[in-house]
Amino acid sequence: MKTASATKKMTAPTKGAAPDPLVGSHMSIAGGTFNAILSAETVGCRCVQLFVKSSNQWRAKPLTEEEAAQFGAERKRTGIGPAVAHSSYLINVGSPDDALYEKSREALMIEYQRCVQLGIEYLVFHPGAHMGSGIDAAIGRIASAMDWVLAKIPNGKTFLLLETTAGAGSHVGSKFEELKSILDRLDGADRAAVCLDTCHIFAAGYDIRTEKAYHETMSRFDSILGHSRLMAIHCNDSKYDFGTHKDRHEHIGKGYIGAEGFGCLMRDPQLAGVPKILETPKDEDGKFDKMNLALLRKLAAG
Ligand code: MN
Ligand code: MN
Ligand code: ZN
Repeated sequence: MKTASATKKMTAPTKGAAPDPLVGSHMSIAGGTFNAILSAETVGCRCVQLFVKSSNQWRAKPLTEEEAAQFGAERKRTGIGPAVAHSSYLINVGSPDDALYEKSREALMIEYQRCVQLGIEYLVFHPGAHMGSGIDAAIGRIASAMDWVLAKIPNGKTFLLLETTAGAGSHVGSKFEELKSILDRLDGADRAAVCLDTCHIFAAGYDIRTEKAYHETMSRFDSILGHSRLMAIHCNDSKYDFGTHKDRHEHIGKGYIGAEGFGCLMRDPQLAGVPKILETPKDEDGKFDKMNLALLRKLAAG
């Protein structure tokens, strides 16, 4: 297990007057949630994403007060934030099956509770899959589940973020209009917003490869959802070509999106305050994260 004393202090970037962009990466919580902060510090993240429990299991041991305190202490020491949680992949609150729907809703609520306990600002989840029941039916169930969760924890400050999807199978959320429909139905819309995944929107048919395409896509997002609803970005290049609805992440600049598109995103002044999180391939010693973070910083600088 890593300890605070074993991690080197990060040196502040020295280059130019431009502020260091708000970049980070998804980090493992093996050994405790605070380890995500230590790993983020090691590779030079300013913000971080983590699971708040095992992503492929329904059950989780309750979070202890000690663990929550340790997570908070490491965040305070490192200044790393905001923190973004990503929900379990098992959750499907768009399901027409009542048993799976209720189990998913409960699991989402427990994750939301853990985020509140840890002081995590955002909980990203995949809207869900309609499993043949149709987009409209799923949209209604997703909105109901979100309101149910938010009503269960009325004082929670964490935002629930709907992630844009690649539109594979019966997944909801590959069109900005679908996410808007969900948000429009919520009573708790003041604690709900959107996480944009660059690989997913590109696979879904929103081009961001050139400056022109980037601005067209972002102005569509703005006119349908509004910039203020974009609270987190997943920065992933794509292993598959435009509009293929395939969700496979590639290193920044090495996939079908390419560096030009990421440059536009990194220099977009409207997104300066939005956390930009890598979900790109990992290696053991963090070299891949360092490489991708360095490229995002270079692109941000122009
Ligand atoms: Mn995701
Ligand atoms: Mn993502
Ligand atoms: Zn993905």
